Amino acid sequence: MLIYKKYRFLFLLPLFACSTSKKLTTTKILTVAPSVVASKNTINSIAIDYADTHIEPIKTIPKTIDYKNDYTENLFQDFKSNKYNLEETSHELASLENISAKLNYGTSDPDTIQNPLDISNCKLPEMMTRGDVGIGFPRIANRMKSLGNLTINIVFVDFSDAVSTMTPQEVYSILTPYAEDYFKTVSYGKLNIQFKPNFKWNRMSKPSSEYGWNNLTFHLHKEYIQEAINLADADIDFSNSDAFIIIANPDAIELKNGPAFTAYPGAGIKVDGKEFLSSATSGHDLKFWGGLWFNHEFGHEMSLVDLYAYQGSEHRFVGEYSIMGLISCTGQDLFGWEKWILGWLNDDQVICANSGISTALITPIETAGGTKLFTMPISNTAAIVVESRRAIGYDKKLPKTGPLVYIVDTNIPSGTGTIKILPFDETDTNKLESPMVVGQVIYYMNYSIKFISTDIKGDLIEIKRIDFN
Ligand SMILES: [Zn+2]
Repeated sequence: MLIYKKYRFLFLLPLFACSTSKKLTTTKILTVAPSVVASKNTINSIAIDYADTHIEPIKTIPKTIDYKNDYTENLFQDFKSNKYNLEETSHELASLENISAKLNYGTSDPDTIQNPLDISNCKLPEMMTRGDVGIGFPRIANRMKSLGNLTINIVFVDFSDAVSTMTPQEVYSILTPYAEDYFKTVSYGKLNIQFKPNFKWNRMSKPSSEYGWNNLTFHLHKEYIQEAINLADADIDFSNSDAFIIIANPDAIELKNGPAFTAYPGAGIKVDGKEFLSSATSGHDLKFWGGLWFNHEFGHEMSLVDLYAYQGSEHRFVGEYSIMGLISCTGQDLFGWEKWILGWLNDDQVICANSGISTALITPIETAGGTKLFTMPISNTAAIVVESRRAIGYDKKLPKTGPLVYIVDTNIPSGTGTIKILPFDETDTNKLESPMVVGQVIYYMNYSIKFISTDIKGDLIEIKRIDFN
């Protein structure tokens, strides 16, 4: 028996009654008027109350039928035309006039979540496996803010052995406006980055080959950044800055990559009376990655982990999803879980299911508003997560769309599989076939995830725990 947690909107509709037969066992269809349906977003549940006057003329015996158990296919068969048909085949109806239907509307109420859990149960704890980055709750406090306006100064540096042949403006054009636009879009407008470039090459004191990039340590990286900041300090007032990045001459091949810098309080970069605990420095690969280099590294500055594998087959965990995996991936939008940890999804956009059978409609992750994540905790540090991916926005190149199912485990450190797409197949390194098709069921441990139906608004998903006795 399913338990209805909330009734946001409740309507009583008369049946299409054209018969008063005494005893009916044939199929009857209830059609909900399109005008009623069109005024609301989604029907979360429908229940029919039977006034069984045939048996007891005086006494009313209401029976409630949950369409999601018995009528799912019939309910959605006319979804696109906003006609909702319910077939009734299993009950004897004494008088159709005495039957009414309750329609429960809403866009995000998890009305068929059995014994729903408080959202705190799905906020997997941050296990501090690395200390500087992680995707558990609460988000690591030392990292960069992820909401609102953020001013980022840009310092350009070159070297005696790698004198830039490009202007700073030319290098800056690799980043902008792509880098700012990306975060504005994928955060649903919640993160607004403004670059403040200082168009001047600052000549570093040592040749590029002497900054230790082949075996870069925290201290070598910090020395490099501190020197660049000290050079730029004459021209830039960092006291009003939220962050800065160091852009090296991209032709300096000794700086082969562009890592993020993350420090504990007391060990950060100090300038103009402030200490900065997060930054990023570009390298030669800026030319290869383009503007998304910044977005990946700034993801780390905000605490996101690497989703590719540091060892072994590099993209076996998440394939071509999220720029925190492969920067140049096909599904460039972030995972909904990443958006949740950054505060771009609110708690009320996430459903936390308990054991039993739960059904929810999730809306595409690329668009703002509505329920985005369907989660079920499976251990103290792990959860099954389902989100809907569509070929729109930064995901526009996705060849296959639909629900994407993955496991988040906050006890698994960065670069070793904190997120894994299901069904997990190590030989599949792009995962582009992973979105489910209608009717498909994915089994993981003793859980099943079923894709029930889809329409332009979202995907209807059922999660069930299978008990083996
Ligand atoms: Zn990374």
